[in-house]
Amino acid sequence: MKKFLAVALGTTVLISTASFAFAQELVVGVSWSNFQEERWKTDEAAIKAALDAAGAKYISADAQSSPAKQLTDIESLISQGAKALIVLAQDSDAVGPAIQAAVSEGIPVVGYDRLIENPQAFYLTFDNKEVGRLQAKAVYAVAPKGNYVFIKGSSTDPNADFLFAGQQEVLKDAIDKGDIKNVGEAYTDGWLPENAQKNMEQFLTANNNEVDAVVASNDGTAGGAIAALAAQGLAGSVPVSGQDGDHAALNRIALGTQTVSVWKDARELGKKAAEIALELAKGTALDKVTGATKFNGGPKGVEMNAVFLAPVAITKDNLNVVIDAGWVTKDVVCQGV
Ligand code: BGC
Repeated sequence: MKKFLAVALGTTVLISTASFAFAQELVVGVSWSNFQEERWKTDEAAIKAALDAAGAKYISADAQSSPAKQLTDIESLISQGAKALIVLAQDSDAVGPAIQAAVSEGIPVVGYDRLIENPQAFYLTFDNKEVGRLQAKAVYAVAPKGNYVFIKGSSTDPNADFLFAGQQEVLKDAIDKGDIKNVGEAYTDGWLPENAQKNMEQFLTANNNEVDAVVASNDGTAGGAIAALAAQGLAGSVPVSGQDGDHAALNRIALGTQTVSVWKDARELGKKAAEIALELAKGTALDKVTGATKFNGGPKGVEMNAVFLAPVAITKDNLNVVIDAGWVTKDVVCQGV
């Protein structure tokens, strides 16, 4: 080990450069579930920038949609010296043992965007039920009656059910009255657009193409559903929802093939996650984190300390919001319009 001499008040002490560096640099490990999805790259940049600004180090791993890989990823982040973890769970149940191991070792965990029901972990997300409400409201404004298809998220992600609950809350009266008929509803394995497309193709076939609205749970699945509609010459005549403010989706809104994308400013979420991870790593109690509130609305009803950010619905009428926020350029939004 490299050492150097320091002379203070007449005493000579030996300082190890390795431990000196360690004391300076707090390592935060981020475990991603499915980094191929556009939005996570924005989240990552925000986390990195905030850690950088605080003099902390970012390390990460991508589970590539494998719950098993995520378990070993988390172990490896810990063995690389992570003093706090930010975890985007691929499978909220399967990740449990790794989370428990971390918190038992005193390594704080921020459940990022997706719920991990462990009372010793923190939960940071957008209001997902509200995202579902905003999706359904925008579609309902265009199609107050008719046959509805619901392209849900991954069944291993609690967000899928939060979104669906918000969508159903908005549409309940019209469904009860018989104005709206649910003619197809399916989870999308791994949130993959190709799986959404396959489900949509089946719903179109089963209903002789008589589908009046598609409530898709994110922009990736919306893209899959719209590809299936396009193959039947229906893109643009059937309203479709999404979320994330993916650039391709914002362009589809401008082109008229997608109705709404619920925008969640991932730059804000990423920054907040880094700040919370650092607060926790420095010993702040879960319930003393800045802005913490209580949440117990998950499938197991576990009480969590949480922070929620607010989503914004983007339609053709307010595309300027994402452009003005510097999220996307006008050129990208208006390409081909
Ligand atoms: C997130 C969405 C994202 C989806 C697929 C959800 O948990 O909230 O923003 O599109 O996962 O990655």
